[in-house]
Amino acid sequence: SFLFVPLCSSFEETPVLRRVVVWQKMPEVVDFIESSDRISFAPGVGLPGVVWQSGSAQWITDIVNDSNFVRSHLAQQVGLRSAFAFPIHASGQVVGVMTFFSREEQQPDEYLLQMMAAAGSQLGEFIKRKYAEKELQEAEASIRTLYEQEKRQSEELAKKNLDLEQAKLELESANRELQRIASVDGLTQIANRRCFDKTLDAEWRRMTRERQPLSLILCDIDFFKLYNDTYGHQGGDKCLKAVAEILARNARRGGDLAARYGGEEFAVILPRTDAQGAIRVAELIHSDLKARAIYHAGSNVSKFVTISMGVAIAVFDTKLSIDGLIGDADRALYRAKLEGRDRIVYLNHSNCSK
Ligand code: GH3
Ligand code: MG
Ligand code: MG
Repeated sequence: SFLFVPLCSSFEETPVLRRVVVWQKMPEVVDFIESSDRISFAPGVGLPGVVWQSGSAQWITDIVNDSNFVRSHLAQQVGLRSAFAFPIHASGQVVGVMTFFSREEQQPDEYLLQMMAAAGSQLGEFIKRKYAEKELQEAEASIRTLYEQEKRQSEELAKKNLDLEQAKLELESANRELQRIASVDGLTQIANRRCFDKTLDAEWRRMTRERQPLSLILCDIDFFKLYNDTYGHQGGDKCLKAVAEILARNARRGGDLAARYGGEEFAVILPRTDAQGAIRVAELIHSDLKARAIYHAGSNVSKFVTISMGVAIAVFDTKLSIDGLIGDADRALYRAKLEGRDRIVYLNHSNCSK
């Protein structure tokens, strides 16, 4: 005939007891229950507090006249008379207190107390497990959240990296294209003057280090002004492309470079090539152009397009500069023009400086 049970728990961080559950919430004891909601029991205070502190069951036959019963006047109002409470043990610790109330005055019942003591420790283990389960679930939920966050972030990062990689590739290819455009002549698609200057400079230094000869051929199309006059500027452009192609085809060794020097003038850089080798290349160009047989009705030397070539060489025991080398080739070319065009003239440094 015990009425209801406020179950107090000390699982809070601060060591107080708070009511957490009520069984048999009868209308006539509502006030008493609600007042329990507002009360926290410190260790040793009130019936739950005494049980909590002592760790053993307590029986109060007459709560109205018990000095340690905190709400005796309220209990009396709602007609409660006797009470007993017992601890809930878990691993030797009091984890909660169960309190029973009775309307009739009840004498201490040893059998009931013993039974409840046994129930208390079983309940304690159960509560502990429940709490553990709850904590486990909470931990699992937060780990899952973290994991999903991490997953999302690393997916975003991977996507960003991919985009970045793509952008990098595009930039690199744009850069290569820019480099190509910067060094290629738009009309003839062989190296332009800028590339010629850079390459000659680089090869000059390399040949100086390696003590190797460096040859240069300067080429100029004969009577090209007349070609334009005869076939038009577009015809002239086509001719320039054809000549450029022949030059490029004959600059075949590693380091060789055929370039458009300007207008209808071209140049071929031949590293590690002596005069004999350079003249050989010039002869190949000459015969290739002859075989190509591009009509040139306006020319005074041939029915076909011809070129004049000046060959010069730098050997690195002579004191020669890049400008000196170009000057030599230019003088040789001038000589070729003077001597009748459509020919190759080689001047070595000693006889061209005169
Ligand atoms: P020479 O035999 O003495 O070299 O006579 P030339 O007529 O070839 O020499 P000149 O310097 O008098 O004329 C060169 C011509 O080349 C004039 C110019 O219009 C032409 N030319 C220069 N660049 C281009 C070009 O890109 N396209 C075309 N179609 N013609 C060009
Ligand atoms: Mg010219
Ligand atoms: Mg010319």
